[in-house]
Order: sequence, then structure tokens, then C-alpha cells
Amino acid sequence: MTEWSSRTKAVHAGIRRSQYGEVSEAIYLTQGFVYDTPEAAEARFLETGQDEFIYARYGNPTVAMFEDRIAAIEGAEDGFATASGMAAVSGALTSMLKAGDHVVSARALFGSCLYILEEVLTRYGVEVTFVDGTDLAEWETAIRPGTKAVFFESVSNPVLEVIDIEAVSKLAHAVGALVLVDNVFATPVYSRAIEQGADVVIYSATKHIDGQGRALGGIILGTQEFIRKTVEPYLKHTGAAMSPFTAWMMLKGLETMDLRVRAQAETALAVASALGDDGEKVIYPGLSGHPQHALAMEQMGAGGTVLAVDLGSKERAFDALNGMEIFTISNNLGDAKSIVTHPATTTHQRLPDEQKDMLGITPGLIRVSCGLESAEDLIADFRGALKRS
Ligand SMILES: *Cc1c(COP(=O)(O)O)cnc(C)c1O
Repeated sequence: MTEWSSRTKAVHAGIRRSQYGEVSEAIYLTQGFVYDTPEAAEARFLETGQDEFIYARYGNPTVAMFEDRIAAIEGAEDGFATASGMAAVSGALTSMLKAGDHVVSARALFGSCLYILEEVLTRYGVEVTFVDGTDLAEWETAIRPGTKAVFFESVSNPVLEVIDIEAVSKLAHAVGALVLVDNVFATPVYSRAIEQGADVVIYSATKHIDGQGRALGGIILGTQEFIRKTVEPYLKHTGAAMSPFTAWMMLKGLETMDLRVRAQAETALAVASALGDDGEKVIYPGLSGHPQHALAMEQMGAGGTVLAVDLGSKERAFDALNGMEIFTISNNLGDAKSIVTHPATTTHQRLPDEQKDMLGITPGLIRVSCGLESAEDLIADFRGALKRS
């Protein structure tokens, strides 16, 4: 199986067939599992084997299929699925950190990630240093002997800064720090994060893995040692387990993810190019004018499914959003439906104005997630909305 390409793994990896030989993965909607004897229960609590389960908060066969499939695609030894992407981000960090530890994080983060780093970890005595993630000199200064972890979004939400996984990992590993990467925007399709040096890769499965706006989910991927010795004990007792029904949807999502994401990224490039041609201020790592375009191509081989456009003012941004017929106003991304968001008043509303300025979350900025509609229709819809605004 290790020699299979990721498209083959996406369809077959991790499958556990029951005695009925079902084709599609079974949904084991059960909270617990029975033991033939008290001796068997005792033995299982003492050491749980590969296909043995105790309680759905600890693990479940459908959830295990999802964990094994995504781990195989990512090239990770193991994975632990969670109830949401944020449960994965907070679980990965809190399971490994304690009071007195030092973490270095990129400043440009999704609003909820920033809350975990800025508010939660510091409340429990973890020291967090924020850096401009695109500036290697800042990482080098901030990472010091004893630093426990570095954290960043490999492509930041929503301003699409691309961070050099290989270079930051080298700096972190030189002092023995673990590298945790929120890889949502890169998607498992374009990710080679583990090969590039990341120790832990985190996805919100809500985004491209489901890809159809049905459910929340998350996954933490890493070495077997990290997942089983650090993450699992913490998460199985704190309760952020993924439901078996969600795991089944995510398994089905993985089967089509490669096709969807490649089509969506192709559309994102077409939309970004068209708006750029019109003279709009477009931010998209797939365009040669993006400051980290070369890095994006080397690290991911594509610009991804999301772009941002700065329309100059909140008024013009709102007018454009109000004028769109195909693009849906929502705050998900990676969906089959194209979605537009105004970060300054929604996902990043909480931030003070100075911080928004520093992060480039301007009043005119809109985030555009390209879906599976025709690129021509989307470009016409966008252009029509701008003309009317
Ligand atoms: C959406 C998102 C998350 C959080 O995922 P949920 O599934 O909504 O909890 C974390 N990081 C990034 C970069 C995201 O886009």
C-alpha cells in the first residue's frame, strides 16, 4: 500500500470490512463494545490491540478507517480524528505543552487559532512569541534553546502568506522544538509537509476533506509515538472525539478530494487571473505577482483553492457581495459551492483595528473560496457584481 499513489490510497486505504463484505465502509454507530468475559475486558483495558475498541471517545472502527486513510495519504505514521478542526489545533498544542514552556507562532492566523495561542495557552502559563511568518530572520531570533514548539498555518487564513515549512523546520529542529503545521489551505492534495520537515500536520476536515459543507471534523497527524503517547491520552479523556457518522462522511469525502481540489484550484487560478487582468488587487499564491509565489510552487505545486481580493473599501466589498448570484456569503471554505467572506467583519471581527492592519485584513478585503461551478460562470458573476457596485 505504501507504493500506491495518493489517489489510490484515498479510495482504499484503511478499509476494515466486516464479515458481510460490504463495499462501502460501514458506519459503526455504537458508543461502546462488548467483551466476552471480564478477563477479556481487563486485558483490553491493559493493552488495546489494532482492531480492538473500548469506547467511542477512545476510538471506533469507522473513525479508525478515516484516521488510517488520511494518514496514508499524508505519509504520516498515525492520526487522531477530532470533532472539529479547532479541537485538533487545541488538542495538539495542549496535549504537549505545560506551564513554563515556550512556543513560537506566526502572527497571521485564523481567528480561532489566534485565540488558542494568544488567550488559552498564555492563561495556563505557556509563553508565546509571535513572528511575521514570512520572515525567516524573525523565526531565527524568536526560536531559542528550550523552545518546545513552533506553530503556523502553511498558507495563512485569510491573507494567504506562504510559510517555508522546510526552512522553519530546520530552525526549530536545531533546538529540538516540534513543528506543528495547520495545513488547511494547502490541503492534503498539495501537501508534502511531513517530507518537508513538519512533525505534526493538522487539518480542519470541515474544509476540503468533507468538501460539501456537511459536517465539522479535524485530524492530527504525526508519528505513532506522538499520536499514541501524547495526543491520544489527552484527547480520549478530554472528549473531542469525532462521531462515527462524521468519520464516514469524511471517508467518502477523501475518495473524491483529489478530483475536487484540483478542479477548484484550477478555477481559483482562472478567477484570480481574470480579476487581476481587470486591475483588481488580487492576493493568490498561484499568481506570479504574489510575494511567495516561487515558494508556493516549490512547496505545494499550486496556489490552492482560495484567493483574496482587496476591493479598497468596506462599502465596495459589501456592494460586491450583495451583487453576487452564484458566490454564497458564508464563512466556510473548500466547499463545492463557491463562498465569499468579509473577514474584517466576520472571522476576524474580534481583532482590534491595529492588529487587523498589521495582518493585512483591510476593510475592503474579501476571501474567495472557489467551488466546483464553471469558472466562466464564476468570473461573469464576480465581474457583474463589481460592475453593479
Ligand atoms: C477552518 C479553519 C480551522 C478550524 O476548523 P473547524 O473545523 O472550523 O474547527 C483551523 N484552521 C484554519 C486555517 C481554518 O481555515
